[in-house]
Amino acid sequence: MEITKEKIYRSIAYERKKGFSNSQGLESVFSDFLINQISYLAKNFSINKEKKGFFTSIIDDLKKYDDFCIADRKKIIEKLLDNLEKPSKIKIEEKTIIIPNKEIKKVEINAIKDTKTTSTNWEDYSVQSVKGIGSKLAENLALASIHTLKDLIRYYPRKHLNYLNRTKIKDCKIGDLVTIWGIIKSVTCFTPPNNKNITILTLTVNDGTGKIVTSWFYGGANKYMQEQYKRRFPENAQVLLSGKVKIDSFSKKLAIDKPETEVLGEVEIEESTSLHANRIVPVYPLVEGLNLKWLRRTIKTALDTFSNQIKDPLPEWLKQKYNLLNLPQALNEFHFPNDEELLERARYRLIFDEFFYMQLGFAYKRKLNEVNTKSVVLESNGEYVNKFLEILPFTLTNAQERVFKEISIDLASPKPMSRLVQGDVGSGKTVVAFLTLLMAVQNGFQGSIMAPTEILAEQHFRKFALWGYTLGLKASFLSGSLTKKQKDLALSELESGNTNIVVGTHALIQEDVKFKNLGLVVVDEQHRFGVMQRAELKNKGKNPQVLTMTATPIPRTLALSLHGDLDVSIIDELPPGRKSIDTKVIKGNRQLMWKIIREEVNKGRQAYIVFPLIEESEKITAKAAVVEAKKLQDKIFPEFKIGILHGQMKNSEKEEEMRRFVNKELDILVSTTVIEVGVDVPNATVMVIENAERFGLAQLHQLRGRVGRGSDKSYCLLVTDKMGDISEQRLKIMTETNDGFIIAEQDLKIRGPGEFLGTRQSGLPDLLLADLVRDTAILEFAKKVAKEVIDTDLLLEKEEHFLIKKELYNFFRNNKDYFTS
Ligand code: ADP
Ligand code: MG
Repeated sequence: MEITKEKIYRSIAYERKKGFSNSQGLESVFSDFLINQISYLAKNFSINKEKKGFFTSIIDDLKKYDDFCIADRKKIIEKLLDNLEKPSKIKIEEKTIIIPNKEIKKVEINAIKDTKTTSTNWEDYSVQSVKGIGSKLAENLALASIHTLKDLIRYYPRKHLNYLNRTKIKDCKIGDLVTIWGIIKSVTCFTPPNNKNITILTLTVNDGTGKIVTSWFYGGANKYMQEQYKRRFPENAQVLLSGKVKIDSFSKKLAIDKPETEVLGEVEIEESTSLHANRIVPVYPLVEGLNLKWLRRTIKTALDTFSNQIKDPLPEWLKQKYNLLNLPQALNEFHFPNDEELLERARYRLIFDEFFYMQLGFAYKRKLNEVNTKSVVLESNGEYVNKFLEILPFTLTNAQERVFKEISIDLASPKPMSRLVQGDVGSGKTVVAFLTLLMAVQNGFQGSIMAPTEILAEQHFRKFALWGYTLGLKASFLSGSLTKKQKDLALSELESGNTNIVVGTHALIQEDVKFKNLGLVVVDEQHRFGVMQRAELKNKGKNPQVLTMTATPIPRTLALSLHGDLDVSIIDELPPGRKSIDTKVIKGNRQLMWKIIREEVNKGRQAYIVFPLIEESEKITAKAAVVEAKKLQDKIFPEFKIGILHGQMKNSEKEEEMRRFVNKELDILVSTTVIEVGVDVPNATVMVIENAERFGLAQLHQLRGRVGRGSDKSYCLLVTDKMGDISEQRLKIMTETNDGFIIAEQDLKIRGPGEFLGTRQSGLPDLLLADLVRDTAILEFAKKVAKEVIDTDLLLEKEEHFLIKKELYNFFRNNKDYFTS
């Protein structure tokens, strides 16, 4: 509690110095920082009801901090101070504030805040400032979330059509992608006698050199609708068709397959200035009430009127060096390209911008951290590490060795380590973690490792206690479930320095935990912890080194976007001798699955059966799982002991059920997805996943990783009753590879980053054009440039960097929880 209070006091002192400007700190702006700290106090320490209520009301005020005037901001802070006893450690005087060394640079971060302009920017003007847009049209635009000029200009085309290269119908070859301009000669719309439920619309178009047809199929045979369809294509109107040439399978005529179409007015086609023809035209996503041609004209007017006012934040030197388009030009060319090459350059520039500020933020925070903090230096190699490698019954894999080397180099430097170790399930991260902890011990420090659940922490502890014992070192365990006596003992041994390595859960960050000299912190399954929690553990020592780990492989582009401030080491090799897991897709018929389970359990092995989340509700899912478990017990496996695990159970109940499974008191564990990542029960050899089509591939892979951990052959059975082409294709990938990275890449490709990340999506910044699968090269480039900028001008103080500093500030503001370190 003292530490938190101290932080609160410090941040207030700093904010006061900054004139209550809601100053920008390293992690967030002042008000958000305070909200975090106070919530933490309210949650983690026993505080009476009255005080809790007070904290809640202060938090509500702080949420609106930005909207209050300075005088009111002061009042809120005074009120808080009145109710919070001063921390015992530091003396706070009203005027003179002692800012420790570490904070001095942070003060300068505020320079970024100061560049925020208060005057209204052209971008924030309402769309009604565009000639011709009144309140009615503005309402229509609002339906597409276009409110300001900026929204309008950044309403990017979903694609472009090149009407410059028109093909004559007589020159059309089957399979070519063509654009044809012609006159609509006839339109028919009818329901074929052999299928009363559809409507076929057919156009015949003539361009003077020949005829071509195109057809669309619609569900339903409503006469009124048919008239509507026909009305879109008036006879004798000019039309542009863009698509692939084929032969129509019914009429055997020359045809064009599902083309993009555009019906033109009578004169436009011949006008060289037309926005809609004779050029590369933008195609915008439309909503009800928006008309494509009108939108083109409107965006064009907006660009013509305002784009000369757009200031390009990128400095000249950068654009010249890397041959990047100017921002105003990029916007103009992206909407209304003069040619294909300019279109590509425009796209490149706009995507670059989306990545650049993200990477600049990472580079900035990282460099600042390097400048401000000096971590303890842990010299390489020595007795313990060597001795441990000798007693280990296996040799390290090449990947383990490489990753440990990378870690060792980091540790030997006072620059704070920011390394994330990614390793597929079973790749042997635990050994690497232990070796890293030994480096701390070797250098006379204590090491600590925090895991997200009690089961995982215990699992680590069992290994570390044994390994430690053989080396003459003491490992201890800390979790919420210890008795008072056990806990007191653990705490005192930690404080006295008797304990060399401590393994634990969140209990490690409780206030009463004190180390003698903590030199290294490992956070396992790091994404399960918040930024604050990781920081709390780190603060238990004096600038300890920090290593984070995760078993969830993510493709490089995502890693760069999510952990751009971290160095990533990948353990991309499994220990030798692993039996691959026999993965089968089971459609409907469960006989085979029951047979495999029965055989394995009769051999003394165990099985998991996992059910997916149904209807977004863990409650309903839990119920379904309970029903299924009962059915299995009564009808299929009366002779086996079946347990159940779901999210509606209390933590202690879950842990207990898990323990029974670990101790072989249960043969089969029926579970919802709450089953722990990282749970290691080598005796389990069957993983059944029901409704497998509902899971992401990465998730299936995680679940599959629960088996195949012993020396026996294991099975993963993906059960599905509903199969479409796509789910079949996805599940097939599972049967083809056991490599988590390949699976993750495929999964990202199939589902896109939003779904791929699912609940782990820690607020990836908005990407309008950039695509994390396609635009890897631009992302890498943006990272390089960002580093270059920060390396030459850490605080972005140069005049020419003024505008990117402002953009960066906006980026920090809009993506408050984004940065991980
Ligand atoms: P994870 O990366 O999923 O945490 P673990 O560290 O739990 O994986 O390792 C999985 C299993 O592989 C453990 O039983 C561990 O002892 C074993 N193991 C780790 N490294 C090696 C190695 N180099 N050779 C053989 N077995 C290893
Ligand atoms: Mg592990």
